[in-house]
Amino acid sequence: MECPLCKTRQTGTKKSHIIPKMFRNELGGAKSQIKIKKVQPAEEKQDKRNHQDIPKEEGLLCDECEHNLSVLEGYFAKNVYAVIQSKAYNDKYRIKKGVNSTRKELDEIDIQLVSLFYQSIIYRQHISNLDSFKECVIDESLL
Ligand SMILES: [Zn+2]
Repeated sequence: MECPLCKTRQTGTKKSHIIPKMFRNELGGAKSQIKIKKVQPAEEKQDKRNHQDIPKEEGLLCDECEHNLSVLEGYFAKNVYAVIQSKAYNDKYRIKKGVNSTRKELDEIDIQLVSLFYQSIIYRQHISNLDSFKECVIDESLL
């Protein structure tokens, strides 16, 4: 099948997460629309606890597009998500007080890469065939 993103190569067979795995802990709560499924370890020697995983789908994009999106994910994971998760969280942010809110701002972040990363998640949801994302539709005129 033709890759819906580049429209030049064939989709691959690699399974990939629609929503990056790093967000697993933020998803799956009682109010979440995204359900996390429990996966048993494949081998006897593996950890006996239930492993949890978020939905994956095979063959959404070609290998090169998958790679390009993984670079965006890596950038976000290293420069935003890891910082948020770190104990030094409060030291790395600039506190900005608004009229009705207080927020923390990150410096030295390429906001275009972060924006592309967010858009890539929305796009993956849009092209997904999984029930979890069946209502995640982008107006074709915006693509
Ligand atoms: Zn492609």
